[in-house]
Parts: sequence; structure tokens; C-alpha cells
Amino acid sequence: TVVCVTGASGFIASWLVKLLLERGYSVNATVRDLNDPKKTKHLLALDGAKEKLHLFEADLLKDGSFDGAVEGCDGVFHCASPFFIHTDNPQEDLIDPAVKGTLNVLSSCSKVRSVKRVVLTSSVAAVLYNGTPLTPEVVVDESWFSDQGFCTETKMWYPLSKTLAEEAAWTYVKDKAIDMVTINPALVIGPLLQPTLNTSARAILRLINAPTYSNITAGCVHVKDVANAHILAFETPSASGRYCMAESVVHFSELVQMLHKLYPSFKLPDKCADDDPIVKYQISNEKARSLGIDQYIALEDGIKETIESLKDKKFL
Ligand code: NDP
Repeated sequence: TVVCVTGASGFIASWLVKLLLERGYSVNATVRDLNDPKKTKHLLALDGAKEKLHLFEADLLKDGSFDGAVEGCDGVFHCASPFFIHTDNPQEDLIDPAVKGTLNVLSSCSKVRSVKRVVLTSSVAAVLYNGTPLTPEVVVDESWFSDQGFCTETKMWYPLSKTLAEEAAWTYVKDKAIDMVTINPALVIGPLLQPTLNTSARAILRLINAPTYSNITAGCVHVKDVANAHILAFETPSASGRYCMAESVVHFSELVQMLHKLYPSFKLPDKCADDDPIVKYQISNEKARSLGIDQYIALEDGIKETIESLKDKKFL
């Protein structure tokens, strides 16, 4: 079976390519720059890459860029999307590549009869932010959709980009009768395969030696569980709609406590950046369970593997 993975150089997509190759798939992997070894070397070194990995160059903002990579594929995993928080130009840096890029990839899929299903890497960022207060008794599930107006007012540009991209995707696939499933993970942790620092790993790295920790509550989930869910979403005929994924929801104070327990020698902040710590909420795992994800890798193991990997890659 041949599948395509977009943005294959990235943190989640690299794991997805690895697990797909291990499962015997042939993978057409797209990267933005084929001549940049930082984006390709770790992929070419994966077991099975020699026989079953084919690299393609594609840019989200170039029309038709994904046609070649998608051709002849049974499944397409669309993972590429800019993931960073700070920008002076959200439209150009985040929203356009997320939205136009997703439609660009789907348009390539619509031209190819072989594509049976598209699995889109969305996010809980496209789920959580509709203005409903996120309090301990609230259980967020797949019926939630982040609200464009709320994200714009609160200047949450990355959540806005993921919300608009997922919305545009659902509208497009309905019109073109494309079978699509989305995976909506929380903050993804775990070891890095790629040599560069991705945004979710940076969030953990930044806790070390910081004067304070941010007043943030986040769901966390291991990258292997997320990559595996993508594959199950493709392989399970009855899979449909969206799948939220979070092992647990924690305040950053709890991540600091966990790091302190695991690494007593680390210099860690003992104060929250705000006086009034925000509360936790819950993210439902019911639907993901129906995909066959019965047990998530424990948060503490994921945090430990993230730190060990950051050390290996000399970020720490
Ligand atoms: P990375 O930054 O590691 O990966 C993002 C990928 O998107 C990179 O391969 C990047 O290519 C590619 N990309 C960005 N802009 C373009 C463009 N214009 N053309 C082609 N490719 C582009 O992040 P993650 O692996 O964490 O993110 C992967 C997906 O998962 C994204 O859709 C993200 O929104 C989603 N996600 C991530 C979560 C997390 O906590 N990590 C949580 C929930 C969802 P290049 O390397 O060349 O920049």
C-alpha cells in the first residue's frame, strides 16, 4: 500500500513515516526543501527507507505542488502546517499556509482516484476555544469547535489557523465526496527524530532554568500514540469524523513538579508567571478508544523521553 505524508520532516510526521515503514507501507514523503539534509537525513536513515521511502518536494503555498506525491496513493496523511505561536504577520505566516495549504493538498487528492481516505492532522486548538470557560467539570469532546471570532479577539493565531484549516477541509471534502478523518491531538511530547527543535518540545525545554512557569493548562499526549492513531484512522474502515487525543490535562506547575521528581538537579521555576493560576478541564478519550487506542503512554514517561531526547540532540 502506498501512502503520502506531507511535511514529513516535522516532529509528528517523522514518527508517522517511521511507523508506516515499520508496518510495511510504501511512503511518499513531502518536504519543503529536498536539498536541506536537516529535513531529510533522519528520514532516509529510517529502517525500510531505502526500499520504501520516496521523497518529494512540495510547498503548501504552491498550487499543484502535491500532485506528484499524492499520485497513486491509497491514503494521504496531511501533517504539514506551520506550528509556532509568535508572529507579527499571522495571516501570511500561519493562516495562509494552514488554510490554502490544506485546500491545496485536498485538491491534489481530488484529482486522484486511488486515494481512499485522507487523515488530517488537526489539533485540540481547533476544538477548545469557543469562549466556553474551561473549568474542572467541563469535558471537551469532538462536538466542540473553536470559534473564529473568539480566536481573533484573543489573538490566538495558531488556534485560528488550525480552526480555519479544519473548517475549510470539512467543507471541501463534503463537496468533493472525499473520505476524511481528523486527529486532534493536545500538546505532543516524546522523543524527537528530527534534528531541529519543534514548538511542543520547546515548551518543555523552556521550563528548565526559567524564572517562572507560564500560567497554562494543557492536554499532553505521546507522539507515538498520535502517529499510531493516524495509522489506525486510515486502516479502520469505520473511522469517521474527528478524534481528540490527550493522555491527561495538566497545569504547567504539574509539569514542573514532574520534572523536579525526574531530574532533581535541574534548576526549575517555583513560581507561576501569574498570581491566579488557571484551572484544569478534561478532554474526552472515549472516541479515540474506539480507534483501538486503549491505553496512552503515561505522561511521566513521555516527559522523561522528551528530556532524554533533548539531551541527546544537545538542546539541553
Ligand atoms: P513541526 O514544526 O515539526 O512540523 C511542521 C511541518 O510543517 C514541517 O515539516 C514544516 O516543514 C511543514 N510546513 C510548514 N510550513 C510549510 C509550507 N509552507 N510548505 C510545506 N511544509 C510546511 O510541528 P509538528 O510535527 O508538531 O506539527 C505537525 C502537525 O501537527 C501540524 O499540523 C500541527 O498543527 C499539528 N499539531 C501539533 C501538535 C504538537 O503539540 N506538536 C499538537 C496538535 C497538532 P519545514 O520543516 O520545512 O518547516
